[in-house]
Order: sequence, then C-alpha cells, then structure tokens
Amino acid sequence: MRIALFGDIHANLEALNAVLEDAASQDCTDRVCLGDIVGYNANPGECLDLIREMECPVVKGNHDEDASGDHCLETMNPIAATALEWTREQLSDEQRKWLRTLRMVRQVSAFTMVHSTLDQPQAWNYVTNKFDAMSNFSYQFTHVCFHGHTHVPRVFVKDNRVREVAAELVEVEEDFKYFINVGSVGQPRDGDPRACYAIYDVPRNLIIFRRVDYDRKTTQQKILDAGLPPNLAERLSDGR
Ligand code: ZN
Repeated sequence: MRIALFGDIHANLEALNAVLEDAASQDCTDRVCLGDIVGYNANPGECLDLIREMECPVVKGNHDEDASGDHCLETMNPIAATALEWTREQLSDEQRKWLRTLRMVRQVSAFTMVHSTLDQPQAWNYVTNKFDAMSNFSYQFTHVCFHGHTHVPRVFVKDNRVREVAAELVEVEEDFKYFINVGSVGQPRDGDPRACYAIYDVPRNLIIFRRVDYDRKTTQQKILDAGLPPNLAERLSDGR
C-alpha cells in the first residue's frame, strides 16, 4: 500500500493534476487530501470536483471553511479575503455545502489526518517549531499523523522528547510518534516553487517527500485573467 498525501491545493488545477500524475507514476494505490482545496488561485470549482470524484478521505481546511460560509472576512489578510470573496462567487451552493460537511479530523487505517493540529483543530494554529508540535502530540493517539496549513514540509518526531528532523526520506520507527506536514500542492512557501506532497509506503515504513514541476505560467495567467490580486500569481514563482 502506497498512499499519496496532499493538501493546500488552493485551487491550483495545474499543480493538482501534476501531483496526481506523479503519484500514479509512483504506484500510489490510495490518496488522502489534507484540506484547503480552495482559496488563492483561480480554479476552485474544478479542483473541488476532481477531489470529490476520487472519493478519497478529506479533512477541512480554514479556506474550505471560509469559502463555504457567509461570515465576514474582515479580520483576515486582505489578499486572502479578496480571493475568498471571489471563490465564494465561483462555487455553487451544492459545492459549498460539500465543503461545509467535511470533517476536521479523520482516522484512516492506522494514521490520523488534520489540516492544522489535533489539540484544537478549529483554532487553525500554525506549527512552525517543536514547541508548537508538543501540544499536538498530547492529542495524537496514532503512530503517525499528517497535516498541512503552513505550506512548509516538516517532520516532528516524539520519543522521550520532541525534535524536528529533515523533511526528506523518513524511516518510521516502531516506538516513535510522527507529526508530518506534507507541504503544499498549490502555493508552496519554503522557497521551492514546485508542488509538494508525500507518499506513505506502509509496508516499507517509509515516508517520501516529492516535488513536482507544473505549468506555473498557465496558473499565473488564470489568476491575472480572473482579476485576483497579482501578488498571488507572483508568489508562485518564488515559492513564498
Ligand atoms: Zn493553506
């Protein structure tokens, strides 16, 4: 069993298609989506339909929540809020209803999935260091938990203490716990503009991070054509 784990797609259809193709070429048999299907980029409805057709386990991201509700977005970063107002208009009532029904946390086979953290999934806290990861581990009852939200691939390991290890090839040890950020498909923020996702090779106890090139120019042009903030197109080139 090889599972492709991806999230923070953010309506980037070209990046999503490239990741799905790469996952197929890597013999992935299963897929899971860690939330934030929509927001920022220009193909929210298309990405949502594609994920839905796969019938894979999905958890809700903060942008999925904001795009599916009618609440005021005033307290949000103005660029993200502009994109979310636009996204609300693009989605049908039925698509927004589907986003609303997504669960915050799911357990799939032997692992857990959440968009942000297990201790307070609805608070959308960001995990950027081992201290942030500690509170999550108190609520993590499976060996491995996958998440997203910061758009930066990261691996936290807990044995008798919590530490961060490089987000490269991870050999999953029997006695440790792992809290793993799979990076972002549609808006990476670690300085590498390529789409990011992870593969969990269950029989070999390996987690593999993948970076995939995609047709960024098309995505950027669609953002500009839609009248979305140009900064959203520019940042895709920088991976920030
Ligand atoms: Zn996100």
